[in-house]
Amino acid sequence: MSAAEEMGRLLDLDRWIERVRAQREHLAEHDELRGVERELASLAERLGALDEERKPTRAAFEEATERAESLRRRKAELEARLSAATAPARELAAMTQELANLARRLSDAEDAEVALLIEIEPMDEVAEQIRASASPLAQRRRDLHEAITQLTSTLDEELASLRSDRERAAAAVPAPWRQRYEDAMARAGVSGAARLDGERCDGCRIALTPLERDRLRSLPEGELMACPSCGRLLVP
Ligand SMILES: [Zn+2]
Repeated sequence: MSAAEEMGRLLDLDRWIERVRAQREHLAEHDELRGVERELASLAERLGALDEERKPTRAAFEEATERAESLRRRKAELEARLSAATAPARELAAMTQELANLARRLSDAEDAEVALLIEIEPMDEVAEQIRASASPLAQRRRDLHEAITQLTSTLDEELASLRSDRERAAAAVPAPWRQRYEDAMARAGVSGAARLDGERCDGCRIALTPLERDRLRSLPEGELMACPSCGRLLVP
């Protein structure tokens, strides 16, 4: 291969490395993962707000349940005493009266219990829906993490192999050209050389003036000209 061909090969490898590096940095899976994480965070926030909202109603419901339960116990006790009673008629009448009172209070407590339950149920359903929609998202997040790990490791292997090809290609470029190439690459990024694409430098896409193109055409063998815009060496 001629020196120009060796430099062309180095240029192609550096561009290839840049493409793989960019691909590794901008995986579509990363963008999707960020979206999934945002959605999960917003669901968690809604669930938290809903829990706060449910707290007082749930506490009132538990209180009503306890009250009904204790009234039910007292009513059962009284009923048992009444059926076994051999007390005077006046006492029996008082117990019957108390039993009627208890029954009324129990019925009120049970009504309150049912009313609170009706209030809580739709909130519980919403919470259940939120949990149900979070579950596939959590699975997707696990899958994406796994895919990203795999893709990144594949691309890292590819980069390592390209970089060792690049070492060899750079060593094959004659030393003075190689130094200028590396300097231009340090300044311009991606690669230290470019080709002419029609009238344009294909590194920076800026056209050479007719005068610059004349200069390039009449360069003596073994000499290089840099793109006046980006400073990359123009491969003869
Ligand atoms: Zn250029």
